Amino acid sequence: MKLVKTVNEMRAFRRTMGTGGKRLGLVPTMGALHEGHLSLVQAARDKSDIVAVSIFVNPTQFGPSEDFAKYPRNLESDCALLEREQVDVVFAPSVGDMYSAGAVTWVTVERMSDRLCGRSRPGHFRGVTTVVSKLFNIVEPEVAFFGQKDAAQVAIIRRMVSDLNVPVAIEVCPIIREPDGLALSSRNAYLNPEERKSALVLHRALQRAQKLFEGGERDSAKLIAAGEQEFAKEPAARLDYFDVVDPDSLESIRAISKRALIAVAAYVGNTRLIDNILVDPEP
Ligand code: AMP
Repeated sequence: MKLVKTVNEMRAFRRTMGTGGKRLGLVPTMGALHEGHLSLVQAARDKSDIVAVSIFVNPTQFGPSEDFAKYPRNLESDCALLEREQVDVVFAPSVGDMYSAGAVTWVTVERMSDRLCGRSRPGHFRGVTTVVSKLFNIVEPEVAFFGQKDAAQVAIIRRMVSDLNVPVAIEVCPIIREPDGLALSSRNAYLNPEERKSALVLHRALQRAQKLFEGGERDSAKLIAAGEQEFAKEPAARLDYFDVVDPDSLESIRAISKRALIAVAAYVGNTRLIDNILVDPEP
């Protein structure tokens, strides 16, 4: 496995591959890798010939009072995990190399970037779409792998790729969870044992809404109220949003007549967690 730390070196590696019909699969990450990330790597191994994983804690997707400085970073143990997964190249650039002094250019997916997490994290998705565009331009993957865990990110990146004719196929992989249902996240490392228990409320609230849906309820307001009731029983968690939206446009849905995304975000202590499920009246 090759560890590449500069943009120039990454481009040089890409050139050595030539255009010989080999498919390069990219898994963009911020590191602190867990089984969720590794499931994307395994999908990339299945569906591409060369697997690249980027590890970059992207400052432009963090707000000024968010956890950029304390976000977990452990390149060495990440590389050990990726080596075991037979990754071909790890791209771990520095902030200075990725964002040259004076950079003022952004990629913005308008309107969608203000929905769900975009409402409480202004500028977050603009940071994501900008860095993902840069990674696509540097690594030039044929296919890129993202987790359904970040459902809004998936919708926004799909929109960007379609709107800008980016020659990359987007593959989406299912959410990997702990045995008790908590979605794996690098931020789970922030939780103390009490908070870890409280964090299960996200999954419980989604399950309650899903159960109502499976019982025939199609009124989003009823599903949202059920989710909110679960949160009312867990005072250690502060709900940011619990919403039912169109999984492509991220617009709120009142009555569910086609595939819908039930998405939740909440603070447990100081840690912001997200989760979601897809429901489909005509599976
Ligand atoms: P991150 O390092 O948080 O930026 O995540 C990198 C990629 O891993 C994103 O596409 C995430 O959606 C995906 N990912 C994170 N957690 C999970 C999970 N529990 N299951 C599946 N994919 C995940």
